[in-house]
Amino acid sequence: MTIRRWPIILAGCLLALPGARAAEPSPAPSFSKARVEWNAPQEPFRIYGNTWYVGPHGLSAILVDTGKGLALFDGDLPESAAQIEAHVRKLGLRVRDIKWILNSHAHADHAGGIAALQRASGAQVLASTEGAHEMKSGGADPADPQYGFGLTYTPVQQVRVVRDGEVLQLGNVAVTAHYTPGHTPGSTSWTWTSCEGARCLHMVYADSLTALAAPGYRFGDHPRYVAAFRRSIARIAALPCDILMTPHPGASDFWERVARRTSPDDAAALIDAGACRAYAAAAARALDAQLARERDAAK
Ligand SMILES: [Zn+2]
Repeated sequence: MTIRRWPIILAGCLLALPGARAAEPSPAPSFSKARVEWNAPQEPFRIYGNTWYVGPHGLSAILVDTGKGLALFDGDLPESAAQIEAHVRKLGLRVRDIKWILNSHAHADHAGGIAALQRASGAQVLASTEGAHEMKSGGADPADPQYGFGLTYTPVQQVRVVRDGEVLQLGNVAVTAHYTPGHTPGSTSWTWTSCEGARCLHMVYADSLTALAAPGYRFGDHPRYVAAFRRSIARIAALPCDILMTPHPGASDFWERVARRTSPDDAAALIDAGACRAYAAAAARALDAQLARERDAAK
């Protein structure tokens, strides 16, 4: 798996100029161009078994039909909510059957649409301890390396906290929460199994691992946070991993894999048992590069 588009994807999770420093927080940029690109139209489609892609083109929203209600991973931007709802209906499913909304991390491009989707569906929202905390602040958590620089959004008030390692029985599907702090303090990766007939695959929705910071924040000033970040990277590398999905699909070559399918049922093109390791290795290199830039900027 190549990560050549990584620098573009970095913009996804809200970016800071590498090494940039400022005594005062800079005004948050509007990200208006990026928002349009992230929210570009995309037909919904089956990824594998009970797992569907229902997001816009630039931001993943993953739907799992548990047999007893739908589970939705991420709500994307505030303006993505209507598109996600339309995709669910287009698949012949009902928005009010979304019973659970799970979040990767509480930035506006993955959690901004959750309040509206929760309202439309009545779903329970689930996140890690720190993820729930940041969602309740509408994406304005001072502990977040991007605090003050990202978009904010309608806070999500009712969030059920999921423990690290907790296995949630959602209908007929067991979903495991893996705390993977780093991109945000509350970052969470989720795994489950999807089957077609007797063939069951390890599905991984791995959170963003980009070391992005608001101007003035230096990862090097937070060695414990960086150590936890490195553990998260190692943890994702070690996951059983058949089909990797990431909040920004481009961060894991998702569209390249989709394009290689010879038919809508061609799961083989999506499977890459080394994808989680490659995703983690690229993240480790990017974290090291960020720390080096911070050291250079301090000289
Ligand atoms: Zn982000």
